[in-house]
Order: sequence, then C-alpha cells, then structure tokens
Amino acid sequence: MPRPFFTEEDHQRVEEPFLDPEHSSERKPVSPYSMVNKAVIILFCVGLTAVVALSVRGYMGENQANLRAHTEALRSNGTHAFRKTVILISFDGFRADYLDRGITPHLHALRDEANAFQAEYMNPSFPSITFPNHYTIATGLYPETHGIVANEFYDPVLNQTFYYKNDLITRDAQWWGGEPIWVTAERQGHLAGIDMWPGSTAPIGGVLPTYLIAFSDPVAPRTKVDQLMTWLDLPLDRRPTFLASYVPEVDHAGHAYSPDSRQVNDSLVLADDAVGYLRASLAARNLTDVVDVVYLSDHGMASVPDDQIIYLEDLVGLDLLDLVSGYPLAGLWPKHASDTARIYEALRIQSAGQRWAVYLREDIPARFHYAHNDRIPPIVCIPEVGWTFYTRHQYDHSHLYSGKVSKTIGVHGYDNLDPTMRAIFLAHGPSFHAGKLVGQAADSQPQDSAGALHPPIGPAPRDVETATIQPPFDNVEVYNLLCHLLGLTPSANNGTLAWASRVE
Ligand SMILES: [Zn+2]
Repeated sequence: MPRPFFTEEDHQRVEEPFLDPEHSSERKPVSPYSMVNKAVIILFCVGLTAVVALSVRGYMGENQANLRAHTEALRSNGTHAFRKTVILISFDGFRADYLDRGITPHLHALRDEANAFQAEYMNPSFPSITFPNHYTIATGLYPETHGIVANEFYDPVLNQTFYYKNDLITRDAQWWGGEPIWVTAERQGHLAGIDMWPGSTAPIGGVLPTYLIAFSDPVAPRTKVDQLMTWLDLPLDRRPTFLASYVPEVDHAGHAYSPDSRQVNDSLVLADDAVGYLRASLAARNLTDVVDVVYLSDHGMASVPDDQIIYLEDLVGLDLLDLVSGYPLAGLWPKHASDTARIYEALRIQSAGQRWAVYLREDIPARFHYAHNDRIPPIVCIPEVGWTFYTRHQYDHSHLYSGKVSKTIGVHGYDNLDPTMRAIFLAHGPSFHAGKLVGQAADSQPQDSAGALHPPIGPAPRDVETATIQPPFDNVEVYNLLCHLLGLTPSANNGTLAWASRVE
C-alpha cells in the first residue's frame, strides 16, 4: 500500500540531504526485477533502434573510431601519464543568474579563458527537483524514461514507495532505469570515482563505481576537492578517469533563506572558493591542460512567501486519496481508480483563473516529457512559480515554515523552462575551445525516447562562432557530452550526439 500522507515524513518533502538515518528503518522488501524495469528495458530496445539510427547517423562509424583513438592517447603532466579524464561537479540549486551577482570570480573568469565553455544556462528536466535531474544528467534520459520521477514517488507495480532519504531504498537498483555515465565508463574499461551523486550507491546493471562515497552531511566543498585529488593521485592503472562530486550547500541555503538571501550569497562564495581550490589543485599537479572539468547544477530556486500556499483539502476531500506527493506540486493517487475522472473534473473546474493547473497524467503537456511512466501520479497539479501545494497537516509540520513566523523561503520543482529554474553549465579543460563552436547541425535535434524528433527547447541556436557564452541547452545532453569527452560509446538516451560533438 502507498504510504498514507498523514505521516511525519510528509512535512519533509522539501529537499534536504538525502541520507536520513531516521528513515532507514523504512525497510521494504524488494523484488529483484520489476515489471517497470522490464518495461524500461523494452523501451530501451525500441528506443535504441530509433535513437541510434537517427542521432548517431554519420557519427558512430569511422568518426567514433577516430575519436576513441584520439581520446585514448595518453597525456602527460610532465611526470605521469594520464588517460583522458573528466571531473563533473554539481552545485545543487545553483540558479543560472547567481553567476551575475559578482561574487563568484573563479566561475566568472571562465568567460575570458580560451579553453573554457559556458552556456547562458541549462534547462533542467521536469520536475525541476534534485533526484530526477541528477539522474537525468547522469543518463541523458528524461525522468519519465529513467523512472526517478520525483524525490519521493509510489510505484504501483512494486507497491512500494521510493524515498530519496532512505539509504536502503536508494541503494536498490530496481528503482534506477537506464545507464548512468559511471556504469557506461566502467563497462568500457574505465574506472569511475563518484562522491555522493544520487544513484551511485545502487549497483545499476550490476555495476558500482570502482570508487564510491555515499552521501554524508556535512562535508566541506574543499574536502570534496581533496577527495577528487586523492583519486587523481592514484597510479595510472588504478586512477579513475570519470570523477563526480555533489555539493549541496547552495541548495540548502536557498531553501531555508530564499534565493535573495545573504546566506545564499555566502554559499555561492563557498562554491566558488571550491572552484578556485580545484583549479589551483589541478595546476599544482600540472593537470590544467590534461583534465576536463564540468560544473553544473540540477535546477534553480524561486522565492516563495509563506502566504502563497494552496491548501489541498480546500479543493478535494483528502479521504478520497491514498497519497499526495511531489511538493511543491500535488501528485494525487485516488484510493479508487474509478474516482480519478471525477476528482480530476472537480479540480479542473476549480482551477479556472487560479494559480495552478491540473492534468490527468496522460494529458500532461508533451514538453514536460512527464506522462509515460506508471510512477507518475494519475492526477498532477502544477502550481505557478512562487506557489506551493500543501495539506494543512504538512504545512503545520514543515520545518521550513516552522515557528509560524512569516518568512520567504526557496522552492524549486516548477515548470522546468521558467527562468527561476535555470541551471548552470560551465566547463574548462583541453577539450573546450571558446569561440570554436559551429552552428547546430540539422539532424541534431533532441529526440524523445521513442526516437521522434521534437523542436529544441529554448531560443534557437545562434551563430556562436565568436560568442563567449553559448546558447542554452537541455540537461539530457550532458550524458552524451561526457561520453564524448571520455571517448565512450553512449547508451541509448534522449540527447543527441551531434550536440555533443559540436562542443569540442
Ligand atoms: Zn537539487
């Protein structure tokens, strides 16, 4: 049965560090192979044919062989040989326009460097929350395809609930569809070192990263950089070539104090300091021209005053529902499937002229790529940016609204194309050359999981031949880029290889 929504956990839907010992007792039996996973595999088989046929066309053959030969060539820092190496760092909740505050000099300096790349911003996938997006970045798949459709969600086939803070659940591979970049790397003869990235503690496809650090809190960003350097200092045959680290401070400050707070600025200084420290650490090893580094985030953050609450029980009888999930959205699981149409219709009528919209799962707008998975609730209410759904019980127990003191907090999870949800993407290293990009190829449009073309999201690519800051793109593209940088053959995904190939 789905977990009832009148529980103490419900008020903690706002994102926090995702290992919570208090919830580790929520042990639930898991079946080794779910129907959902089988469906995902079937989807992959279908998608593989279409995606590979369309987006790999003219690229995989001789070009791929040449690329791999090129990237497999060892580089030297003067004393040691290095394989092509990539470091990926995620600053959770780092909104794109935070870069304009003038307090992140190390990141800002990349705009003027020859071997750097910065996108104007990166679009998160919907919903714009942490676990779905970190796993989209890792796999190149939309959440509806990889199956991590929220931080907390119910699977009607497994009859179990995924909860991102439950370490026993997140370590269970049955939840995680697709192939994350660290598995792609390990399967193709590389070693991976992963520090706290969502999904990395589950043996997906039977593969764990060779070096793995599970989430713990708190760990200072500089300490995380030191960990990366420890891995880079290993001998060649034991050294990982794909390294990733997750840094949560900016997200935490944004939630608790809102995006415009001093505390967020303090967290940005901390993040930027880690960038400077990383660059200095690489320079000290003479690795600046050997190692590629990608900095990105999973989503942005919006200011939400605490009087902009939409109370669910004012709209629908809670006794008709088994579970409400998806904060700040409201994903509704009716107790009886036969009630779904009636509940939806009642909500649809009430939503007229209001600051929220309601959809049946199958009618969610196609641009969200959020309809084709049984884990998505049958009814989804999406608020405008700045508003949140709550039950009164949830609100009363929300630690962020605690004390009954009116305050503004930070929330994300909204329409992934809203400016407040925009993420960052910056990179530097030997594979990046500012001003050397060419226009988007005609066949490089992103494709959905069925291989069907759809228009690129966001502004049309402009002539970027001399631009310092490149046009925005969707985060489903990152997986292909990482594969490209490492010389890996990507698994089937929703991105496009042509996009990745034009970056180098
Ligand atoms: Zn996040």
